[in-house]
Amino acid sequence: MTRHLAITCLAFAICCAGCSREPGETVDSSDEMRTRVVTTTGMIADLARAIGGDRVNVTNLIGEGVDPHLYKPTRDDVAALLDADIIFYNGLHLEGRMGDVLARAGADRPTIAVTERLPEERLIHPNDDQDQDHADPHVWLAPELWALCGNTVCNALAEMRPQDRAEFQANLETFQAGAAELDALGTSAIGSIPRESRLLVTSHDAFNYFGRACDIEVVGVQGISTDSEAGLADLEALVELVVQRRVPAVFVESSVPRRSIEALVEGAAARGHVVTIGGELFSDSMGPAGTPEGTWKGMVHHDIRVVTESLGGTFPPSNGQAIPENLE
Ligand SMILES: [Zn+2]
Repeated sequence: MTRHLAITCLAFAICCAGCSREPGETVDSSDEMRTRVVTTTGMIADLARAIGGDRVNVTNLIGEGVDPHLYKPTRDDVAALLDADIIFYNGLHLEGRMGDVLARAGADRPTIAVTERLPEERLIHPNDDQDQDHADPHVWLAPELWALCGNTVCNALAEMRPQDRAEFQANLETFQAGAAELDALGTSAIGSIPRESRLLVTSHDAFNYFGRACDIEVVGVQGISTDSEAGLADLEALVELVVQRRVPAVFVESSVPRRSIEALVEGAAARGHVVTIGGELFSDSMGPAGTPEGTWKGMVHHDIRVVTESLGGTFPPSNGQAIPENLE
C-alpha cells in the first residue's frame, strides 16, 4: 500500500469510527450494514465468516456433498453473484465451469481467488497430465496453506471496510492459531501410522497438499479434477499397488461417486487381498451444516482421524498432542 493510500485509509477509518460509533455504543450489525459476501465453496464461506464475523453476510453457492469441479451455476447463483458486494472463489480452476459467470460478476465488484497470493513454490503441479497447466486446487486440505489464504480474505475485507481492519486482523490471527493446531495434530496423528501402511488411496487426487503436510503418500483413482473417468489401466495399476503394499483400507469421498473405489476393492479381492473401505472423507465439500464436519476445521479433523484409525495409527496421538477444540 502506498503511503498516500495508507493515510487516506487511516483518515477514513478514524472518520467512520468517529461518526458511526460512540464509545460503549452497541455495534449495529443489522443486515443492511453488513457486507454481502458470496462464496463458491463451503470451505471459503467458513473462512469468510471466521474473518468477517458480524460484519459480513455470507451466501455460499456450492452446497454440501456437491462436486465443485463439475458444478454449473444456477440462475439463482448468477443473481446472488450479481448482487454481491464482494466474491471469493477458490481459483486454480477448481470451479472449472463457473469461469464465465465469475468473469461477468467480476466486472463490477471485487472478485477474488483466495489462492491468488499463495507462493508459487508452495503449489503442487500435477506432472502426469499434459492438459493440466494449472496447479492442484485442493489447498484447503493443508491447514497451513488455508491459513495463508486467510490473509487474502482479510486484506480484501479490510479494503472494503477500513474501519473494521483491526477486527478482521484479530479474527485472522485466531483462525490461523486454530489452523496451526490442526496442522500439528495432522502431523502427529498421521505420523503414528506404521510407515509401510502410510498410503492414502482415495477416489480423486484431492489429498496431495494434505499428504505433503502430514507425510503420507497419496494416490487418487481419478486425477485432480473429477471431470475425467479413471482409465482401466490406471485402476489395474492401483490394484497392483494396494495388493503389493498390503494396504488395509481405501477411502471414498462425500462429493465423488463411490464406484471407482468399489472397483478397486473388488479388484484387490480378486487377487486375494482384502482391503476395506476405511470410511468417507470430506475432500471437496464439508459435511452437513450443524455437525462438527460442517465446518472447515471439523472436516479436516474428521479426515485426519478417519485416515489415522483406518490405517493402524493412534488417535488421538499418544504424544500429548492436544485435539483442537471448538469444532462446532
Ligand atoms: Zn477435487
